[in-house]
Order: sequence, then structure tokens, then C-alpha cells
Amino acid sequence: MEPVDMEKDISQLHPADPLPFALTDSLVPDIVFEEHDVEEIEKEPYNDDQPIFFPPELVNKGSLDSMTKYYCYLMELKQNFDYEVPVQNIMLLVRNQFDMDEKSMNIELEVDRGTLTVNMKYIGLKCLNSDQVILCRRFQLAVFQVLMYRKAEKLAEVLCDHTLGNNSEIDYLLLPSNYVGQSPLIDWLSVTSVTFSYEKACKNHVNCNADILIQIKSGLVCTCMIQNSLVTTPHNGHAYIISGLLTNINANSLLRLSDGRLMTYKEYYEKRHGINLCYSQVSFLAGRHIFRVQNHIQRRRKQKEKESSNAFVELPPELCCVVMSPISISTFYSFTFLPSIMHRLESSLLATSLKKMHLNHCVQNVAIPTMKVLEAITTKKCLENFHLESLETLGDSFLKYAVCQQLFKKYQNHQEGLLSIRKEKFISNTALSMLGCDKKLPGFIRNEPFDPKDWTIPGYNCGSYSLNEETLCNAKKIYVTGRRKLKFKKVADVVEALIGAYLSTGGEAAGFLFLDWIGISINFTNIPYERHFKVRAEKFVNVQHFESLLHYSFQDPSLLVEALTHGSYMLAEIPGCYQL
Ligand SMILES: [Zn+2]
Repeated sequence: MEPVDMEKDISQLHPADPLPFALTDSLVPDIVFEEHDVEEIEKEPYNDDQPIFFPPELVNKGSLDSMTKYYCYLMELKQNFDYEVPVQNIMLLVRNQFDMDEKSMNIELEVDRGTLTVNMKYIGLKCLNSDQVILCRRFQLAVFQVLMYRKAEKLAEVLCDHTLGNNSEIDYLLLPSNYVGQSPLIDWLSVTSVTFSYEKACKNHVNCNADILIQIKSGLVCTCMIQNSLVTTPHNGHAYIISGLLTNINANSLLRLSDGRLMTYKEYYEKRHGINLCYSQVSFLAGRHIFRVQNHIQRRRKQKEKESSNAFVELPPELCCVVMSPISISTFYSFTFLPSIMHRLESSLLATSLKKMHLNHCVQNVAIPTMKVLEAITTKKCLENFHLESLETLGDSFLKYAVCQQLFKKYQNHQEGLLSIRKEKFISNTALSMLGCDKKLPGFIRNEPFDPKDWTIPGYNCGSYSLNEETLCNAKKIYVTGRRKLKFKKVADVVEALIGAYLSTGGEAAGFLFLDWIGISINFTNIPYERHFKVRAEKFVNVQHFESLLHYSFQDPSLLVEALTHGSYMLAEIPGCYQL
């Protein structure tokens, strides 16, 4: 669809031509739709099959060089609530630098217990060799697999056939970070937990303060190896995060059952699982069920989901197999927030891409916060803390105002009906959605709540998605991760919300620049309004009386006549009515 040039379009109309009239409900002469207007809309029907965009900053081709350069971003997590498990900072490594509004970016997450603030900032470049990259990928894949599927059974399989192809993949690294002095570093010790083996653990076991061997299902290990680990218990197929030793509990300790009866752990395991515990003097392990990955960017629900009291369990070491070690419960806990954090980051990067399309087009520098653009492309259905509705209302009003002004001044002294038709042509949802499609806006629109189950683990493509490159109107590339149904009304809403976003942060000038970019050129500031309304007001209205009622004195009393005249009262001497 061609951009609508209002100047040209209006000049094609001849105000002097007789118009086909009909009476509307308000008894005002109306104008029948001109046929070519209708045809124009029908020529290009809106296709509700629309793409979902993905930011190119997080995509790479699989092939690895011997050394890879990464841009490092530190994510500082701060929990604004009391919880026995603290959070740990995360390092995000990407191969393309982000374009951020400010030096750091804040994301606030909703957690059952309160809020968690994430501050993300760029900290510098880092080069990793191919072995390190593979190790990091295996680590994050293992942690996310465990968190998302809450099992560790098939982990070895998943890690085995994990090779990157030559296609474009969602590719970045999320790693635990710790401070050494003032400098944030990658917590390599935790990263190596993915390669845990008993042989290696024993061979590398030097300078240990604990040095107490403990019998677990598959052999003897030092307590230092099991107290920060991920274990599986083959008797029930579960996985647990181990956070320490329970030095006051062993197989002979008493356990209170839910019905109030007391029995020893030894008796319990025999009755419940048919297992005879052999090492009755060995301290149990403090275990925790795997954390749930939730949507933390959703508006806080009124009813909080309380953590079940049996999240923590006492485990006999002899039933446990170590899968990952050393890795702390803090690392697992912190990683549960990453799908939500990355989802918000992906959306922000898309908002930045959209902003740049407009920025590359206009000469003037319009600084719009990315957050406002994000708000304008987020529908209420996403259930997030912000959505486009108020911006949409603002944009809708501004658009109507701008277009009406333009039409009114260019097309003066004609009946309301005619203005309505011309207006309809420019600001109908159909017209706006077409303009939005021309600028490829549908791919940016966020219309579904985030579902952590659909989140893609970076660097792991088991055929669950494919990325197709597409070019935006500023020649920048973007990726399409999939397609969805999107109604044309949503596209029109987003166009209006974007107008509202530019207007509210950059003023009217920015609003007009955005209108111009989307394809509606408004140029009414230069059009003088001439009044062709020659009546002697005193002949129809008692001007003095109205002026005293209104406490206002009219320079042009004919305005008063026009304002008081309904369209059905047509006298030759009165050329206009208030519906105009
Ligand atoms: Zn040890």
C-alpha cells in the first residue's frame, strides 16, 4: 500500500461538484461512499497469519572459531524479601553488543515472596576458546533441562547429542558469576560441575578441609563434593538439589508422619519403599525438590502460590547418585529467574529494533525511551505490569485531531458527512493495520503471556524451532521464530499506541514525525483557515444576549450562528452548521 499523501488526495476532490446526499440518523445530509474508496481497501485484504520476530543480537551461526569474542553483561540480582536461599549474580555472554538507552537496564520481577530487581550492565569483552564455549553450553543446558523438566534422568543423553549445526541458532551463554575483589568473574568452578565424575572428583581432591568420606549409592565421596550438588535418587526417579549435611539426623532418627505416628527413617524406608538402609550412623543430606520455573514478569496475582512446606527433604546419602557437583542451591535458584529475564530482554531488543526503523528514517533526532515503545507493542493479554491501552487512547485522539484538522482546513465549508468519509479512509482500523503491515509492525507485537515452557534454552536446538531471516524497512535484519494468528485490529491498536508513545515522550513534533513515517503526512500547520461564512449574525441570533450569558465577546459573531444551527435547518443565508 502506498503512503497516503493527504495533500494530493484532497486535491483530487472538487468541492464544487454536486455530491450524492442521503439523510443520516441525525438528519444531516450524508454522503454515499465513493466506490473507489471501498475498492481500495478490498484490494489488499489483511492476512491474519503474521510472523513472530526474534532479536538478531541473540542469534548466531553455529560454527565455532578457535577463539570467540564475547560481550559480557553482568546481571546483578537483588532480592527484596527474606528467603533462606540467596540469589547469585549471572553473567550473560553475547556475540553482538546491545544497543541500550542507558549504561544499565533494570528489570523488576514478581516473585511469590516479593520483588526481585535485576540490574544489567556491560562490563567488557572476553575471549573464550572452543573448549570453554562447549563447556559453558553444556553447563547451561544441564541446569535449564533440570529446572524446566524437573528430572535429571535423560540429562546424559541430552548432553551427549548436543552439537550445533551450521544453521542460525539462538546462541548466548548464561553463567554463574562471583566477585573476586571488585571484579565480577565467571564462576568456573560451578560451570565445571556439569563434567562431574567420581574418578575425576577423587583425582582432583586435594587441599580439602572436610575430608570426610561418605557412602553414597555409587561409591565413596568426600562430604565437600555432595554438600553442593545435584543428585538423583534412582528408587523414585527424582532429582534433588543438595544444600548441606543434616548432622543431627540419621537413619535412626524419628520421623513424624502426616497422620501423627512416629517411626524411624529406617522403618519408614523399609515400609514405604522396601529399602533396607545399611549405614545407620551416616548424617542425612538436606535436599530440596527442583525449583519451578515460573513467569515472573506477569502482574502479581492476588492469590499467592505458597511454597509447599515439603519442598525441603531429608535424604539418606546411600540412596543418592551425584549428577552435578559442585553447584550451589543459589545457582539453581537464580537460574529459575533467567527465562523471565531473557524474555523481557528479548522484548526490549525488539522494541529497540522498531525504534531504530523510525530513527533511521527521520533526520531529526527523536529520543524515545525503549520502555515506552515496549509498552506500545505489549497488549493487555500479556498480563504484564504495563500494556498499550492508555497510549492507544492518546494516539487515537491525536490521530483524529491531526487528520480532522488537516481535512477541515483543506476541505473547508463542507458538510460533516464528507469529512467523516475522508477521515474514515485515513484512520479506520483497516487503513491503520495496512500501514502497520507496510512497516512490518505485526512481527513486533506481543499478544500472549510469557509461558516459560515455550522458552528456548540457548544453544540447544532439538528441532523445536527454526529461524528465518527477514529484512526490515531500514535494511536491518531480524529473525522470524514462528507464525501466529493476529487480528488486524491489534495492528491498528499498536499503530495508535506508538503514535501515543512518540507524542507522550517527544511532544507533538515527535507525534507528527511518527505519523509521517507510518505513512500519514500531516502538514496542517501551514494551512491558514479562511472562513467563508458571510452572514449578518444579528439577523438570526440575539448576539448580545448570548455574549452576556457566556461572558465572552465574539470577534466574529457568525461563529455563534454556525454553532447554533443544526444541519436540518437549511436556509440559503446560513452556509454551515455545527456538525461540520
Ligand atoms: Zn573434600
